[in-house]
Amino acid sequence: MEPRPEPPRRLAYRFDLRQPGRVHVSLETPSPAAGAEMLDLPSQWAEARDLQRSIENLKITGSEVSLEPTSRLARFTLKAKPGTLVRVDYDLVQDWTGPLRASERHRVLIGPELVEFNGDTGLVAPKMETTAAVQVSFDFVNLPARHVLVTSFGTDTHQTVNGPWGEVANALFVAGELSTRQIPLPGGPVLLATAGHWSFSDQELALKLRAILAAEREFWRTSGSSWYAVVLAPYGTGTTGGGGSAFTHAFSLFLAPSEHIGPETESLVAHEAFHAWNPANLGTVADTQRLAWFVEGFTTFYQDVLLERGHLIDQEMYVRRLNVILRDLFGSPTSMGTPGLEVRSPLDDEETRYRAPYLRGAVIALWLNGEIVRQSGGRWSLDDLMRGLLAEHGEALTADRIYATAGRFVRPATVAAFRSMVDDGTAQIQLPEGSVGPCLSMHSKQAWSYVLGVPASQLTTRAILHDVDREGPAFRDGVRDGQMLLGWSLWRGDADHEVALEIRELGSSAVRTITYLPRGRLRMVPQAEVSPECAQGLRGGEVGGAGC
Ligand SMILES: [Zn+2]
Repeated sequence: MEPRPEPPRRLAYRFDLRQPGRVHVSLETPSPAAGAEMLDLPSQWAEARDLQRSIENLKITGSEVSLEPTSRLARFTLKAKPGTLVRVDYDLVQDWTGPLRASERHRVLIGPELVEFNGDTGLVAPKMETTAAVQVSFDFVNLPARHVLVTSFGTDTHQTVNGPWGEVANALFVAGELSTRQIPLPGGPVLLATAGHWSFSDQELALKLRAILAAEREFWRTSGSSWYAVVLAPYGTGTTGGGGSAFTHAFSLFLAPSEHIGPETESLVAHEAFHAWNPANLGTVADTQRLAWFVEGFTTFYQDVLLERGHLIDQEMYVRRLNVILRDLFGSPTSMGTPGLEVRSPLDDEETRYRAPYLRGAVIALWLNGEIVRQSGGRWSLDDLMRGLLAEHGEALTADRIYATAGRFVRPATVAAFRSMVDDGTAQIQLPEGSVGPCLSMHSKQAWSYVLGVPASQLTTRAILHDVDREGPAFRDGVRDGQMLLGWSLWRGDADHEVALEIRELGSSAVRTITYLPRGRLRMVPQAEVSPECAQGLRGGEVGGAGC
């Protein structure tokens, strides 16, 4: 006989927004059957740490209950009489001040006009595996008069979820002065919610989103989920660029208030939207970190491919953006793509470690697509591998499943090469000289390596600059240790795009902007070109896919 599956764990969360500046949360759940279990406070999400600082007035009530600290700051041992109900109360607060900057977008945001958090940043919960079955209800009470609620599960003030805990831990919760509109799409509408004022209209943004999401649904040939929301909110002044995060049935986007919807923003949107399938609909992922080369890398490959197929960017822009990735990977002065080259500084290396799976994965995807197209005589492409994974989404998503699926399209030796590129993070990815799939060919060219000259980790803090590279491009143009960085504008990895750092000297109120090209040395790197037979625009697009 099959063992009976465990009944889902029941949790009831109630969010009270009566008090400005805090959300009072209460959780009711049956006491642990064994009498004791771990209770976890939020601790880290993305690169944000010490998230437990957002939890105040933690209190537990119930029969024979106690809460004991453990060696981990954000973890307690909860004891209670078995077979009773336990109630956990706490206040969720914002643990930072000042205008919203990129460095705070991964923390709990509780402002008068916008409250935004997610399962990992805002929910206190018993320690559970992401695959554990749960039955969760959410109730939102005392929302300020003009506030609108948008979460991963809808817009009602009472919501329920039946599924794996991971869907709740990865859920988005937003309440605020939002303007909302439905974007009609094949496969069901998407809700767009925007906070703040923008240089573009909601209508303009809705049309762009519609085109991008339609291209993605067409690629996957499904809508992914029946409910889907996109939330856009502005950074405070002093920040440029944008950042996105994908959640259960939703993604959230932060942009500088002055930002317009250009190729950068479109690419960001295409990236976050692609996560609705990779990995959300391809099977549960046990260790997202280890699979980042696929989850982030293959998504990075497809984000611009799909923009190009959906005619949101042209071939020229597609190739330009691909070449930025290639230069960033192969021109890197670290060991990311070229073994044996020196690492410039430990801080640059931290940034490199973060970016490596995005870049390496994207270039592995480019290589693998080329191999599939070549070996199948143009019948198949990487698209078919991706859809093959979707067709078997009931299985866990693992590297072995991806290799096995690849084995249906390419020779065993190619699968072995694929596997070794993934396993050895410093192995050179051997892009062939010449064709890498329809319409694209690869040539070695001299290009500037991307060197910021300021440890990239300092761009996400409001710290005083230190360890400015004395031989680097920033120093050459006047950036010094001890200056305060107020804002910045840059295209990460693009050595041809000017960096602007907004600087204030300590003891002075004058703010000045230092601009420079983030260039290290000239290196030989593979660069893509549109093949001559396609440059005429035979079929308009599909440079990254099977057909041309
Ligand atoms: Zn991503």
